Amino acid sequence: MHILVCIKQVPGSTRVEIDPVTGTLKRDSADAKLNPYDLYALEAALTLAGPDDRITALTMGPPQARAALLEAVYMGASAGVLVSDRRFAGADVLATAYTLSQAILALGGCDLILCGRQTTDGDTAQVGAELAEFLALPHTAGAMAIEREENGVIVRVAQEDAIITQRMPLPSLLCMEAGINTPRLPSYRRRLGLQGDPLRTLTLDDLPDGDAGRYGLNGSPTQVERIYAPEKKTAHEKLTGDERAVAGALAGVLRARKFIEEN
Ligand code: FAD
Repeated sequence: MHILVCIKQVPGSTRVEIDPVTGTLKRDSADAKLNPYDLYALEAALTLAGPDDRITALTMGPPQARAALLEAVYMGASAGVLVSDRRFAGADVLATAYTLSQAILALGGCDLILCGRQTTDGDTAQVGAELAEFLALPHTAGAMAIEREENGVIVRVAQEDAIITQRMPLPSLLCMEAGINTPRLPSYRRRLGLQGDPLRTLTLDDLPDGDAGRYGLNGSPTQVERIYAPEKKTAHEKLTGDERAVAGALAGVLRARKFIEEN
């Protein structure tokens, strides 16, 4: 079985730079880490895979995103694919999902695609479903556990007030729930033992659909108009008087705002 895990490199801190002209995130200027939600998907793939199976980590991002792919390989993925081209910059969810779908076609497809539940930066939780739609694959979100069966997988799926069991044919796409496993650490021994570069890069020229209008800002029907820090509310009230009066007034404020109950 060939399992493909979609991973994304996200800012590692809140100190990120925004391009003042396009309003987009300058991904190459920020500290970066592997999206924590994708670690659960990677661990699920590593647990499911047998000795004859292959796991490929796939990401679209700037050249720096190689670091996220290498981390996936050090955890146990067989290989990594970076989808990177200046013409992919500024992609919204639709263009991101389309680019990933084209990359998967360029790789010759796979048996199972795992995505994380969401990212910690874009945070839309839409890429998985849109990717499945572009590839015309059955998909489900909220996957907690995967078991193999002949010609498919059995998936336990978290719903709002129940857990359901679903049979999925292969190929299909699963968005993995958070907190379902304990992702393993990257292995130093595995890193030392690697021979050659386990990563390959795909550019727009490698994708089946070479129409540049489908990718990056050009292929994005939604665009960020403005990014700004939330307004700080500085309104305050000063309580004066002796200790009793201040304590009484404070209790009144807390009661009015329902932080404490009437007695
Ligand atoms: P989610 O849907 O939350 O991610 C779910 C899962 O999909 C992840 O766990 C992972 O498994 C997979 N996944 C997500 N992204 C990737 C990836 N790149 N590679 C591999 N797997 C992935 N960003 C810009 O830089 N410039 C813009 O102009 C811009 N415009 C935007 C406009 C709008 C309206 C929105 C909503 C977002 C915009 N973004 C922009 C952010 C950009 O769309 C997202 O970074 C990207 O679409 C991924 O979406 P997400 O982070 O919400 O992923």
